[in-house]
Amino acid sequence: MKVLVTGAAGYIGSHAVRSLRQRGHAPFALDNLSRGHRQAVPADIPFVEADVRNTETLASLLRTERFDCVMHFAAFAYVGESVEAPLKYFDNNVGGTLSLLKALAGSEVRRLVFSSTCATYGDRAEVPIVEGAVQQPINPYGASKLFCERMILDLQRSLPDLGVALLRYFNVAGCAEDGTLGEDHDPETHLVPVMLRTALGLHPKLLVFGDDYPTPDGTCIRDYLHVEDLVEAHGVVMEALERGDRRVYNLGVDRGYSVREMLTAASDVVGFGIPFEVAARRPGDPAVLYADASKIEREVGWSARHTELREVIESAWRWFRGPPQG
Ligand code: UDP
Repeated sequence: MKVLVTGAAGYIGSHAVRSLRQRGHAPFALDNLSRGHRQAVPADIPFVEADVRNTETLASLLRTERFDCVMHFAAFAYVGESVEAPLKYFDNNVGGTLSLLKALAGSEVRRLVFSSTCATYGDRAEVPIVEGAVQQPINPYGASKLFCERMILDLQRSLPDLGVALLRYFNVAGCAEDGTLGEDHDPETHLVPVMLRTALGLHPKLLVFGDDYPTPDGTCIRDYLHVEDLVEAHGVVMEALERGDRRVYNLGVDRGYSVREMLTAASDVVGFGIPFEVAARRPGDPAVLYADASKIEREVGWSARHTELREVIESAWRWFRGPPQG
């Protein structure tokens, strides 16, 4: 299939481009390069530098290129930043998706795969979280993605031929197994890269955001999925998507690790204790999020291959300690 990948130069988008190609599809990359890296997309993949908020550019691209599917990754994805700058998140994430949907509505595209998040659930859902759980986000990032989900489902009512998939990611970590593609955000606030950057001496210590949560060791619990498993799920779901489908899936490994457990695992991988200090809670963080991802396995046969936390951290460490960072 010919697939437009928005946010293709970002961490997840760039892994998706590679995975789509390996599955025999023809990815076409779009990114505004505000946070992505041009070199993360191979030179022989068609690339358009554009912002998804530019509806006219998108509409003309969808008309001329006649894609079979759009995978929409372009978004900001930091909980902490979203609390500090909510409008930036609504502008980019909701505004970007609205613009894309306007272009899509006037096109022949019949499949849309949307990058959503467990942050749409908030902290009221019972764990492990199922797709039917209450969605009450407690931070603007989650709220922005929930609005997007609603817009997509509402639009689909008027476009019955469109098949849509909302994929709610839990935490994504790790890098390509061959060490050639990884995670390079600026600023970087996600736990795994911050831990490993601390191990490299790029930060003096890891700040553990709160150890007074109602969890066994007091730190927040998350479900960490390997990025290569995540992007594989996108290909599998896209291939299964039929006209009129509305598929909603959690993507995770069905098990949660606390920040302290993550620190122990990462220290084990790097071979020494990563320095840390307990700091205040970060506003917007739910205490516990981990998936019940059995629905996607039942319906399309996908489940995570990297089920050991160590494998996820090791793959990230290979990337972070190698060029260009190390
Ligand atoms: N975290 C932390 N210190 C950091 C970064 C993250 O203690 O420097 C914690 C954060 O509070 C959360 C977990 O690690 O409980 C995962 O955070 P991350 O930002 O990686 O992903 P999120 O769950 O916010 O999407």
